[in-house]
Order: sequence, then C-alpha cells, then structure tokens
Amino acid sequence: MKTTHLLLSVLLCFCTSLSKSQSHAHNTDNNASVSYPDVIAQYQELANKYPSAQLKAYGNADGGKPIHLFVISPEKIFNIDSLKKNGYTILLINNGIHPGEPDGIMASLRLSQDLLSGKEILPKKVIVCIIPIYNIDGALETSLFFRSGQNGPDVVGFRGNARHLDLNRDFIKCDSENAKTFTKIYRDWDPDVFIDTHVSDGADYQYVMTLIDSQKDKLHPTVSKVMQEKVLPYLYKEMEKSGFPMTPYVNVWGESPDKGLTGFLESPRFASGYSALFNAFPFVTETHMLKPFAQRTESTYQFLKIAVRLCGDHGAEMQAARKSQCAYGERTKRICIAVENRFQFCR
Ligand SMILES: [Zn+2]
Repeated sequence: MKTTHLLLSVLLCFCTSLSKSQSHAHNTDNNASVSYPDVIAQYQELANKYPSAQLKAYGNADGGKPIHLFVISPEKIFNIDSLKKNGYTILLINNGIHPGEPDGIMASLRLSQDLLSGKEILPKKVIVCIIPIYNIDGALETSLFFRSGQNGPDVVGFRGNARHLDLNRDFIKCDSENAKTFTKIYRDWDPDVFIDTHVSDGADYQYVMTLIDSQKDKLHPTVSKVMQEKVLPYLYKEMEKSGFPMTPYVNVWGESPDKGLTGFLESPRFASGYSALFNAFPFVTETHMLKPFAQRTESTYQFLKIAVRLCGDHGAEMQAARKSQCAYGERTKRICIAVENRFQFCR
C-alpha cells in the first residue's frame, strides 16, 4: 500500500431521503437494502427451488429469533462428516454483524442466486455456507440516522444487538446468545475459509474495497505461508481484474500516513481473530463508507465470487496447511509464552 494514495479527511455527509425497501438482491440503485424478513424469505425460496441448497435455523439470537445458515452443496451432500472425509473445502460467510453495513447481506443473496441458477460456476469440491444476517435484532431496529456519514443505503440497522452488545467484540467471550449460536455453527462446519463482511468507518481513500487478512505473525507458519504466497496474491490479482483493486485495511487514528501505518492485530474477540484460532484462512472485507452503496455491494459480490473460485483452485493446499498445523499441535507437548501486563487499573 502506498501512503501517497491516501487522503485523510473528516467525514461529514448526511443522508436526507427515505426510500422503500425492495426485495431483489441485484438492484441496489435505489439505495435501499433488503429487510430481515425479506432476506430469510428469499433464502427459503432458493432452498425450496434447488435441491443443492438448504436453509437451517441454528440457535437463537439474544432477541429470541433463530440465526439461520444457508448451505449450498453442489452434490447435494449436507452431512458434514462426509464432506470433510471427501475433501470438500468449506467457505463460511458471515453477514450483518453490524446491520448498518449491509453490503455483504445483499452480495451474498445475489451470489447464492447466481451459483444456484448456474449463472456462476460453483466448483465441485466447494461448499458455500452463508449466515444471512447474524445480528437480527440490530437489523430490525432501523433508522435514517444510524451511520449517517455512510453513502447509502438510506435506512440502515443498528450496530448493537438486542442487548446493545457489539457482536464483533464477543466471539471468544460469548456474552450474547448470538455468539453462542455462531460458535455452534463454526465448530460444526469448521470452515477452511471464513469471511466477515463490513463497511469501513473513518478514513477517506481511493479504493472501494479494503481487506483484513488475519495478522500473519500470529497464524501458524504453514497456514501463514500459504496465505502469503498463494491466497493473498490470488485475491488481490483477481480483484484487480474484476475492476475493484483492493488495498489492505487502513486503520488511522488522526495521524499522517507519512509516519507509517500499523497493521491491524485482531484478537479472538474479533471475527477473523476468532477464526484464526482454528487455523482457518480468515478475512474481513471493509468497503469504503463514502463510496456509493451499489459500488460497495458490487465489490463485495466480486470478492465473494473470487473467494469461491479460490476455494476451488487452492482448496487442497489450504486444507493441507491446516492439517499440518493440527499435526504440529498434537506433537507439541509444551508451549512457552511470555506475558507482560500493560494494563493499569483505576480505582
Ligand atoms: Zn463493521
């Protein structure tokens, strides 16, 4: 990432008009996202229409509604043990953890329609699992004034869940029912690749899409090597070809980029940090909040489509890297760690 590409600015932009909710995932021109009931209804419709898709209610969210998982399996196999035994690569996409950032919700719905209708090819040994909306209660609480600096959609959901918890700080802690349900989904499916979809919240720059890949030094060396040498070059190259070149996620705290930028170290309370504990290949997409909603959704759609292809092209290598880490863990009898307490507590 070249620092000269960055322009930092204070972001003050307010949305001014209401628009009706619409129910087709391909049309984001009217600056509206799809409501929670419409999203689930559309996934149910797909599951009814295509035998290679299933929609399953897992546990509940804090507000009492069930969190769903939509699974696309090209050979109609839904038994996880069989899939693992037969070398399928599993991709898990989580959407709507922050419902005011609905790009992934829309993009995943469109991806599902395109993969199932045959418009896009789903590689034979790839399973696509999608959590349509993770923070259901946040998605049901909508306003014109949430994320008012974001360039659409006009009406968006709330960041917190039913108990106003930020779910992207709750993965390892599991204070929320949402996180307990997510843990069950995650441990059941043990994805090889995990993607959590977001919209950024700060700096201004040219790129529509920025990416967090899990901080490389905390991944196991075999996983990190495949990530650095195969997976990331693939994603960046393919995104460039799609018309949406990416840059790493920019985390700026009011300083000039001339002084350098610090890579984001995501601990396991964050989505990708949690996923890294299981030696998966974790990603967080962060589209740029000042870019139009339609562009952001399109770039997220392209990224997810490319991630599906990645699983087809490099799934075996990614699985081998994960397995070699498991063997390493079994061989390791003792791990020495150094811990320094840097926290100061005030009375
Ligand atoms: Zn977010």
